[in-house]
Amino acid sequence: MKLRIVLLLILPFLLLAREKPNRTQAPIVFTHATIIDVTGAVPRRDATVVITGDRISAIGDNISVPAGAQVVDASGKFLIPGLWDMHVHWYLRDTFTLFIANGVTSVRQMFGNSDLLRWREQIAKGSLLGPRTVVASPIIDGPEPIWPNSIAVRNEEEGRKAVRRVKQWGADFVKVYALLPRDAYFGIADEAKQQGITFAGHVPNSVSPAEASDAGQKSIEHLTGILIACSDKETELRDKLVKADSPEARGRVQTSALETYDEKKAADLIAHFVKNQTWQCPTLTVLRSNAYLGDESFRRDGRLRYIPRLLQQRWNFRVANHDSAVTKKVLQKQLEIVGAMQRAGVPILAGTDTGNPFCFPGFSLHEELALLVIAGLTPVEALRAATLNPAKFFGLDQTLGTIEQGKIADLVLLDANPLLDVRNTQKINAVVSNGRLFDRKALDKMLGEAEVAANR
Ligand SMILES: [Zn+2]
Repeated sequence: MKLRIVLLLILPFLLLAREKPNRTQAPIVFTHATIIDVTGAVPRRDATVVITGDRISAIGDNISVPAGAQVVDASGKFLIPGLWDMHVHWYLRDTFTLFIANGVTSVRQMFGNSDLLRWREQIAKGSLLGPRTVVASPIIDGPEPIWPNSIAVRNEEEGRKAVRRVKQWGADFVKVYALLPRDAYFGIADEAKQQGITFAGHVPNSVSPAEASDAGQKSIEHLTGILIACSDKETELRDKLVKADSPEARGRVQTSALETYDEKKAADLIAHFVKNQTWQCPTLTVLRSNAYLGDESFRRDGRLRYIPRLLQQRWNFRVANHDSAVTKKVLQKQLEIVGAMQRAGVPILAGTDTGNPFCFPGFSLHEELALLVIAGLTPVEALRAATLNPAKFFGLDQTLGTIEQGKIADLVLLDANPLLDVRNTQKINAVVSNGRLFDRKALDKMLGEAEVAANR
């Protein structure tokens, strides 16, 4: 009996120990690979890529394979950098591997809590297998926040205090939200600048996207406020939105915005974002699922097997309380706007809003890539939005984001060319996460274990 208890106590540690990166791991070598480095350079054919520890130690076409290396014949296959999902809400530690299994080697968590801070460190150390993680503060919202566990602020002083508090707490950036009063928002913006921390999130209903851009908001999520800002009745509609107290009232504001859409205003706003280099994370995946929630196909999705029943119930509750006529039209316009943004030079980030209805951890990033292409990005531009752009966004492009010698080895090996059809990013043959290789068999095992964990 005692022995069993001891075993039960030490078993988790043994399992964790197994997850630690093996510093003496043999070098990994991909031979005859086609490298798509996402910079726009012509794909490099028949290349050898050597990974030593967590780094890409050599790339060439005439490199001798180091002794004892684990060699992967990548003939006819394509290497891309590890993918980022720049907008997730995912708190189920035992299913973090769903990201890795889908080639998503890094994520930006958009609603921080202390578990996420702890797991961020464990993943970085290699004691927990999951995507490298950047963690937002808890959501900072107005006096009556939309979500529980948000930080409620009423005015400039409370906004400033909240910034100092979340920085101290360990957030990587400040997350701003929809119901912030103007003075609180601008207080947050100024304090963030003084504290040397960035802020990102929704553009509050009380603020215009151009003002948010000028205030230094680093990224705008879900294109919040942008459709209204393109209306020739912008001020009037924003005023109505602040006062809207029901989904129907908000729907009416959206309808008016569509009817009064002004091409010139849209072009001016986009130019404004270009000038300030305000990043956009449109999260087309969640905009689409919101618009098409009523579709039966969502409820037949095989990937629901990875989603705990409790979360599925919450998703279905949202379906039952949903009107999609307006949101479908809005989505069409938003796709157009994202295409125009890319053409004008607005920097774009790929994010899904995973955790929201029918946005699946890992899997949905590939839907986002496809939607970005539908919006008008080329496949390489879409790939860049999920690789080099996030690395640049965080100032990490010296170590991540492309396939170059000396960079961290986060890689995805594909069975088909993603530049011909971006959906080929789903044909994953192997993933390298922080220097650790997972072949198809290992990835399938990971998926099986995540399914078990989700249904426990
Ligand atoms: Zn979100």
